[in-house]
Amino acid sequence: MKYIGAHVSAAGGVFNAPINANKIGANAFALFVKNQRQWVAKPLTDEDIQQFKDNCNKFGYLPEHILPHDSYLINLGHPDTEPLNKSRNAFVDEMKRCEQLGLTLLNFHPGSHLKRIPEEESLRLVSESINLALAETKNIIAVIENTAGQGSNLGYSFEHLAEIIKNVDNKDRVGVCIDTCHMFAAGYDIRTEETFTKSFADFDRIVGFQYLKGMHLNDSKKGLGSRVDRHNSVSIGDIGIEPFKLIMKDSRSDAIPLIPETTNAELWEEEIKLLRSF
Ligand SMILES: [Zn+2]
Ligand SMILES: [Zn+2]
Repeated sequence: MKYIGAHVSAAGGVFNAPINANKIGANAFALFVKNQRQWVAKPLTDEDIQQFKDNCNKFGYLPEHILPHDSYLINLGHPDTEPLNKSRNAFVDEMKRCEQLGLTLLNFHPGSHLKRIPEEESLRLVSESINLALAETKNIIAVIENTAGQGSNLGYSFEHLAEIIKNVDNKDRVGVCIDTCHMFAAGYDIRTEETFTKSFADFDRIVGFQYLKGMHLNDSKKGLGSRVDRHNSVSIGDIGIEPFKLIMKDSRSDAIPLIPETTNAELWEEEIKLLRSF
């Protein structure tokens, strides 16, 4: 069984996300649990929480198929103490919101070294940030996303993901989300069955499929190894259709949320149908 959805709007309240997901025929979805461009947000009310849970029940969404994404402002590998602490507090707040909503995953980009400290040092801070957040919550799994490696962003290589996981104390509460656009932009070719098999074998060897908690299914507007993060709708970018067919036939992507995150919301329903047809 495949669980496919989109990153749906939570405008007007988090409880609208499952309604919006249901409208486009999704059986999984991603959302922001607070405004992604602001540091602070009002706490969730009991009513928000209850309505969210009711709507998830009504449309049959299980926590493991819902992949919340944290705010873009957060940098868990920040070289400076003050902004690092601000990020860590905001991350804990997001984790707690997820927990209140009965969710089990929180997807985030690892962070950036801002060209001021070595990558290894920044990766270490990310692991430490995860450890701190896990200590303040009970059930949420910290789901690290691979990145395109734009600017000074960490997480563009499988080695980075493995290094972060290595220094997380509780391995049961850390996972990864693989974004196909980011993977390709970071230099992992997946365009043919042969390159796809090789790249995912590398992932399995370096990180391990047991950590895979979700995937972002995006095509790319930029070429292999461009290190530029520009999503395109499935099948109409530089990656092409083949890897998406392979993912849909791959049992390793059963039971996890598969989320096209492309910008054109009008295409989501069609994208989900297309993916299902494979
Ligand atoms: Zn993504
Ligand atoms: Zn992206």
